[in-house]
Amino acid sequence: MLQGKTALVTGSTSGIGLGIAKALAQQGANIVLNGFGDHAGPEAEIAALGAKVAYHGADMSQPAEIEAMVKFAQDTFGSVDILVNNAGIQHVARVENFPVERWDAIIAINLSSAFHASRAVLPAMQKANWGRIINVASVHGLVGSAEKSAYVAAKHGIVGLTKVTALENATSGVTCNAICPGWVLTPLVQKQVDAKAAALNLSNADATKLLLGEKEPSLQFTTPEELGELAVFFCSAAGNNIRGVAWNMDGGWAAQ
Ligand code: NAD
Repeated sequence: MLQGKTALVTGSTSGIGLGIAKALAQQGANIVLNGFGDHAGPEAEIAALGAKVAYHGADMSQPAEIEAMVKFAQDTFGSVDILVNNAGIQHVARVENFPVERWDAIIAINLSSAFHASRAVLPAMQKANWGRIINVASVHGLVGSAEKSAYVAAKHGIVGLTKVTALENATSGVTCNAICPGWVLTPLVQKQVDAKAAALNLSNADATKLLLGEKEPSLQFTTPEELGELAVFFCSAAGNNIRGVAWNMDGGWAAQ
């Protein structure tokens, strides 16, 4: 379905980004990976699916590096047809204790990076009259939780950015939508399970149960594979007129 198209997925060396990159690769898209840590392993996983793959290590808090990454993707594969703004970090603390440096980093990586990557890819998408921008927001783009001020602010912000980007391109073949996951068991969330286990002297299994039970009626994690399939759907012809939605895949979290 996506043969000849190129997808740039930020923060795709791990977790949800890697899951989405693999789902797009399975549809035949060329993939540009980004993120910290080991990238040889993820590159091999994508190549094993028969897709062409490249990697750029841009730090998503740095606008100039984001611009260089988009140019690298365009030079390597000829275009960026699908942009998945996924890179993200978390920090948990009450507002009065929230480190200013963590606030700035979360706003830069979870929100501003999507603006910088989108503004870099949009002109070529508009010229081609086809494009997909998928912003990985969160259920925290729709509702709040205590001790996550920067994250919730950034995710509400990216839902707003999604709507405006969709509206500005509404008469074209370029769409923009957001995906809003509930809990997904990735390194980002395992850290929160570990913190709960340590604070309450619980086993990993009990801390996990408590984490899910507090928020997610289904009591189960959404998987990167399920989120990948939603991204594929947004890229399909069925997604041609889906514009500016914030689609939660959250086990009923926001339905309460
Ligand atoms: P993760 O920690 O597994 O992956 C994050 C990715 O972003 C990694 O590849 C990491 O290297 C990369 N990254 C972090 N800082 C970066 C930077 N400055 N520059 C470039 N890359 C950077 O986390 P995840 O859970 O897969 O999160 C991915 C996205 O999904 C985030 O935007 C997160 O907010 C969102 N999300 C996660 C959950 C969840 O439950 N895990 C729920 C809702 C939304």
